[in-house]
Amino acid sequence: MAKFVFVTGGVCSGLGKGITASSIALLLKAKGYKVFMQKFDPYMNVDPGTMSPIQHGEVFVTADGCETDLDLGHYERFIDEELNYTSNITNGKIYSSVIEKERRGDYLGATIQIVPHISNEIKNKIYEAATTSKADIVITEIGGTVGDIESSVMMEALRQFRLEQGRENTLFVHTTLVPYLFGSNELKTKPTQNSIIELRRLGIQPDIVVTRAPVDLGESIRKKIALFGSIPAENIIEAKDVNNIYQIPLNFHKQNIEEIILKQFGLKVSKSNLAYWEDLLQKVENLKGEVEIALVGKYVELEDAYLSVKEALKAAGYKYETKVKINWVDSETLENKDTDLKEVFKNSKGILVPGGFGSRGIEGKILACQYARENKIPYLGICLGMQIAVIEFARNVCGIKDASSREFNEVCKNAVIDLMVDQKSIVNKGGTLRLGNYECQLKKGTLAYKDYNTETIFERHRHRYEFNNEYRELLESHGLVVSGVHPALNLVEIIELPDHPHFIASQFHPEFKSRPTKPHPLFDSFVHAAIKYQEGKKK
Ligand code: GLN
Repeated sequence: MAKFVFVTGGVCSGLGKGITASSIALLLKAKGYKVFMQKFDPYMNVDPGTMSPIQHGEVFVTADGCETDLDLGHYERFIDEELNYTSNITNGKIYSSVIEKERRGDYLGATIQIVPHISNEIKNKIYEAATTSKADIVITEIGGTVGDIESSVMMEALRQFRLEQGRENTLFVHTTLVPYLFGSNELKTKPTQNSIIELRRLGIQPDIVVTRAPVDLGESIRKKIALFGSIPAENIIEAKDVNNIYQIPLNFHKQNIEEIILKQFGLKVSKSNLAYWEDLLQKVENLKGEVEIALVGKYVELEDAYLSVKEALKAAGYKYETKVKINWVDSETLENKDTDLKEVFKNSKGILVPGGFGSRGIEGKILACQYARENKIPYLGICLGMQIAVIEFARNVCGIKDASSREFNEVCKNAVIDLMVDQKSIVNKGGTLRLGNYECQLKKGTLAYKDYNTETIFERHRHRYEFNNEYRELLESHGLVVSGVHPALNLVEIIELPDHPHFIASQFHPEFKSRPTKPHPLFDSFVHAAIKYQEGKKK
């Protein structure tokens, strides 16, 4: 049977609860345990798939095709394990499954109540995460802040879970803020005290408190929190502000957090294997060069909307000891007649068009893509970024002036990107995209093949529209190369332009598989091409 760590948050949001949970998981993995992670989000959407990226940041996609909170991206990048459908549970998912069961008659006449029906459903999801992953330790993060109305039933389920499993199998980590007051120049423990009291009111006594503070706590503050929180002083783990999030697991390690957890679980404490993470940190803190990449999107006012893309670029940069500086370009601004593209991209050594939905800003992205193609600037297109590249090529190279995607123009005569037959009958927007892992066969002798150095790959998808095969021959006759195809469905997965130093675009999202310690092949070669382009310019 697995052991369970629950990470809750107090005082306010944005304290880095996700990074705390990921760091704990990383450290337990470094002790040789198989870990798995889960996030509870207390909102009523079934999943974030239908939410605006501006509201909620990026939608992360798991290999098995679930649309999830962006924190799962942090989890996968930290623990380098593939998560699954049990990893992101929302109130919406819980309620809709209980109501579905009620309609089916599964409850045999019972009155359906928050406790026990909703709380049981939540507990089942925790057990399910343990059984599907076969992990030794499951780490579950609870979204929101303790005391929120939304998360109260989730907290109640956790209280019951501890009752069922006992202290030797469950452990509560509570993250709080210890603010520093200028003027009196002191740290204040009251918000932390109150937040622990709030947690106790819900029947949960934390075992570990992680304190976010701008400076060291010092012995007396630590003792005070310990006393008021009924927690041994060594179980107060300091999360002092850092410049680099990769530092956090190492800071926790110094304070023996994994030992405290393993001892409570009665599990063996062996030596940690953290050398690879220390190497990463070393690299990140000693980057030598810098290269600028333009990211052309329509949600650029919120960097989190492109979180995994950003992280994947950074990770590729680490390999070349280079800092990737992102030039955030709002695609709509490029549509303005007065905008000088040369000026916008003047320092950019690569242009990336990421995923997106809807028609706003599309023409600006097409202009950016054209600029990259014509000026031989390295280009990476992701999902919508591939569709854009196909449209641009059809319009400006093949002369199909009205080429477009069915998504932007329903009555388009030349939809080079179109709906597949099976997507045409779909009415519901939620969960009906082409999602998760699909196979892709790579063509020998292409850039894609060189990057991956293998024939068969699996990559994650999140889109509705596809390359329209009716135009394939025509586009190929003008020099576009289809270098990756889904074999069974004959869907175009990767395109490239051989008469360009580096022009490649994929229908899938490579960013979801990138890790800080293992850059994704497509990002690796793109950033490398940008660095080479920069060196060429200097000569
Ligand atoms: N909007 C496009 C589609 O649905 C692309 C989606 C994406 O970029 N994730 O096919």
